[in-house]
Amino acid sequence: MIADRSSAEQRLAVAVQAVFDSQGNSATGLGQRVSDAALPILLDIARESATLLVLLWMMEDDPAATPMMAVRLLGTNVDGIAAQRAQELGQGVEQTTADLLATDNDPYPDGRAEMIAITEVTQAINAGETAAAAAWRVNFDRKVAYWVTAEDDRVCSICGPLHGAREDVWLGVQPAGPPAHPRCRCYLRWENS
Ligand SMILES: [Zn+2]
Repeated sequence: MIADRSSAEQRLAVAVQAVFDSQGNSATGLGQRVSDAALPILLDIARESATLLVLLWMMEDDPAATPMMAVRLLGTNVDGIAAQRAQELGQGVEQTTADLLATDNDPYPDGRAEMIAITEVTQAINAGETAAAAAWRVNFDRKVAYWVTAEDDRVCSICGPLHGAREDVWLGVQPAGPPAHPRCRCYLRWENS
């Protein structure tokens, strides 16, 4: 979870659109520019989602855990995962743009930046929380993730059937977790078993 998902989507959409607006009709270099623009935002989201979750767990079930412990746990994983995702995102966007240009399509149709932003915010939240759970498990108990569909994903043929599914079920269907498709706003609910 993060405190303000719609602001995060807006911030990322604006950043990606600004890159599109200044790129011109060539995909060359686009991937790195998208990656550079997205990275600080993805880092903020992943760090926030990981931190909030660990703070929640500390309050819930381990009064012995200290804030310093949480910071140490999280420092290991979250930033590297967000950086890697920013690179993958840039590569994917560049490839899609090259394909659109090669087939004489508009490379930056209305809504493309917004679609990327929605999907990548979901991705960054999930990445932060999954890293937090992995770090937490080293010192404390194992947390189990249940798939929760966003309201508008409940009727989606991919996500709808996953609503409420425990991880041993959804890992077999969508091993990477949310997002399951562009514009997916599903998230994970973490329980003790
Ligand atoms: Zn979904």
